Amino acid sequence: MAAKPLVHGPQQPADLLLRDVHVLDPRAGIDARHDVRVRAEVIAELGAPGALQNDNGEEVVEGHGRHRLLPAFFDPHVHLRTPGQEHKEDLETGTRAAAAGGFGGLIAMPNTDPVLDSAPLLRSLRDAAAREARVPVGFLAAITRGSEGEQLTEMAELRQEGALGFTDDGRPVQSAGMLRKALQYQRLCGGVIALHEEDRTLSRGGAMHEGAVSAALGITGIPTISESTMVARDAALASYEDARAHFQHLSCTASVDAIAEAKARGWKVSAEVTPHHLLLTEEDVRGMDTRMKMHPPLATDADRRSLIEGLRAGTIDCVATDHAPHAREEKEVPFEQAPMGTTGLETAFAALYTGLVLTGALELGLLVERMTAGAGLFELPTPRIAVGEPADVTLVDLEAEWVAGERGWESRSENCCFAGRALQGRVLLTVTAGAVVYRERAFSVVASR
Ligand SMILES: [Zn+2]
Ligand SMILES: [Zn+2]
Repeated sequence: MAAKPLVHGPQQPADLLLRDVHVLDPRAGIDARHDVRVRAEVIAELGAPGALQNDNGEEVVEGHGRHRLLPAFFDPHVHLRTPGQEHKEDLETGTRAAAAGGFGGLIAMPNTDPVLDSAPLLRSLRDAAAREARVPVGFLAAITRGSEGEQLTEMAELRQEGALGFTDDGRPVQSAGMLRKALQYQRLCGGVIALHEEDRTLSRGGAMHEGAVSAALGITGIPTISESTMVARDAALASYEDARAHFQHLSCTASVDAIAEAKARGWKVSAEVTPHHLLLTEEDVRGMDTRMKMHPPLATDADRRSLIEGLRAGTIDCVATDHAPHAREEKEVPFEQAPMGTTGLETAFAALYTGLVLTGALELGLLVERMTAGAGLFELPTPRIAVGEPADVTLVDLEAEWVAGERGWESRSENCCFAGRALQGRVLLTVTAGAVVYRERAFSVVASR
């Protein structure tokens, strides 16, 4: 790939002394209190608490031995809605929401208007991101023209222009023959094929999970086999072509089982899961709140438990938010007519910390690993807290309690499925590519001298 994989807007390099922060980086094997100096876009020094002197008037951030310093999170599945749907989100608001959620980088989906399916469009979008993006952004291009499933895009040319891979997300690649061709090209030009799995002959017309709740509400359901049969089919296709496939937003037990089997056979597959599928179920749809409507739909509690176990065991490699903003008037319609999707960048960490770590389902270190692992799946460097590494870190207060959305959102849209929930764990500061890109409003820093 010729072009730089991630692009971001101009930033002022940070000059920071993070004093007595509890550094937690499972990959670097650190779980202890340290002073950390950030200078010239890298982690310049690590020392025992109190060991590093504030000698050149840099900004001092007090961690009180309490606040956790984590590698910045990475989200491989975000809808920035640009070009064409800037009333929902744009490069600036979407990456601001990411920074507020502690994300130091993300990958944007190509189901924009027009669909990102040509090299000139990718070039102009990357140019715009180089002016407007607050955190580094990478792009997936479409697998097929217009994501219509009929004709492959110019995959090699798109790779040259910087595409990290390909997806028709929002839609499945319904034809096995078409996906087979795409996988053959993937082997030649590299990158990752990311798959939104849905058999539209099974999901057709559905607005929620097919089960007891859809029957009670009288809403047409989407059966989980709509997803799981496609996961099994496409894992087999990827194996047959010795290609690299990534499975997006898994939602049910059968899909986790299909990935586990593919991995056991040594196939080159990876998978992601969203915070909402890890924390919510079809029961949350009973009130017919359209913020609970997304694809794939929220399934049963047994499915949810399989996803947690899959994430814990490593069958599922990473967390991805599938941040999908929609304008208020688009969501304020009857449930069956509402568009699919929930926002998620600003709540991901706190929702998972509250719902999985505090309940004992997952260790904090493992959650941090899974919230950063998306980068490596797309052949990008994984943030690491070590001397000389790029300064990509997030400072969080694990004791802070807040209500999601009570102080508004950085995203242009507010269709968050966790809105109104009491959460614990708050992002205080996000540093990425060496610059401070987010500071929590109430978080006071002591600027020295
Ligand atoms: Zn999707
Ligand atoms: Zn998506």
